[in-house]
Amino acid sequence: MARPRGKIDVVCQNPECRYYRKEAGKDIIKSGKSKSTGHQRYYCKHCETYFMETKGTPLYRKQLTESEIINICKYLVEKNGARSIERITGHHRDTIGRLLEDMAEHAAEMNEYLIKTLGLTPFECDELWSFVKKNKKILSPAAQIGLKRVMHGSTPA
Ligand SMILES: [Zn+2]
Repeated sequence: MARPRGKIDVVCQNPECRYYRKEAGKDIIKSGKSKSTGHQRYYCKHCETYFMETKGTPLYRKQLTESEIINICKYLVEKNGARSIERITGHHRDTIGRLLEDMAEHAAEMNEYLIKTLGLTPFECDELWSFVKKNKKILSPAAQIGLKRVMHGSTPA
């Protein structure tokens, strides 16, 4: 049956799937919503698995995979600005800017993630955030609130 395809902006969330977090070649359809949370449910035709959108988590990113996000975090820790990250990774500055904004908004969760996954120290996290703040001149109010929550106003210069 041919049905018009809306643009699906998620990637498969099943780590076993060949198309796990892959944009190219994905075959995903919308499949109802969760009654409890109202989140969109999706179905990957490759691995025949249902999954929920992960919107609202720091790593929900349309164009970036988790490993790309991890790389970008590493570049940030090394104090590369959006412009040089653009050069290194080939991702558009706007994509990186949106990621920064998203990360800032969920800074507290991101901290946990950075510490656990990347092995950053809390001090390195602080540095990362102050760098994000310096780098992104315009942050959404939500992102500013998120940053305030983790930065405690004591920003190392
Ligand atoms: Zn899949």
